Amino acid sequence: MNKKIVKIGNLEIGSDKIVLIAGPCAIESEEELILDTKNLKKVDVYRGGAFKSRTSPYSFSGLGQKGIDILNKIAKANNKLSITEITSTNLVPEYEKNVDIIQVGARSMQNFELLKALGKTNKPIMLKRGFGNTLEELLYAAEYISKEGNNNIILCERGIRTFENATRFTLDISAIAVLKKKSPYPVIVDPSHAAGNKEYVESLSLAAIAAGADGLMIEIHSNPEKALSDKEQALKPEEYNQLIEKVEKVANAIGRSV
Ligand code: PEP
Ligand code: MN
Repeated sequence: MNKKIVKIGNLEIGSDKIVLIAGPCAIESEEELILDTKNLKKVDVYRGGAFKSRTSPYSFSGLGQKGIDILNKIAKANNKLSITEITSTNLVPEYEKNVDIIQVGARSMQNFELLKALGKTNKPIMLKRGFGNTLEELLYAAEYISKEGNNNIILCERGIRTFENATRFTLDISAIAVLKKKSPYPVIVDPSHAAGNKEYVESLSLAAIAAGADGLMIEIHSNPEKALSDKEQALKPEEYNQLIEKVEKVANAIGRSV
């Protein structure tokens, strides 16, 4: 299978260089996003939810448009790219204009109208695997995007639901090998939502890189205890920096860089 390298400005996703995406679960304020990101040593893309799909309708669901504006501003000021989740077809024009990589969340993987609308843009799309979906279903979802003409697709394994409940989801390491064999697209791993617990994020990250993932997306927060969402899985910026030192060693061992 020919490899697809997704290019955004100077960044290439799917080359020998591992791509690092980091940021809070949700954008909480401009001040907080600055605190979260300012001490990160190696990072290519800032993440943060603005329109959040929360399991409970009573949970913090993001700042909406204001969140996009903050992410865009802070990413640009630091010469980084931005990624944030889209939840509705109505938001496509706004995301086309102000977001570098559009994320489709696990809960929207089979929102086919949204996938078709994203297929009509030429933006890079990171498609997360639904936690109840097979890899075949993920690849068909990707085809809903590519069939409309957009093959700037990045796949993301973020854990699936199994009988095991020691972690929030079960990270499917096999998915990396299978997706690499069956599709041309780069594969990013999100160990944070898979683990649901910061204690396990390092182990899953290193395993993902050893297994051939093209990048990682890690949730961080300057003060995790105070985070408005997913606080159990957020690394502090200094913990993230320590993790990336180890990621670099594993990447180097298999002939890749960070
Ligand atoms: C996220 O990355 O912000 C997120 C909500 O993840 P997922 O869609 O995988 O649950
Ligand atoms: Mn989260």
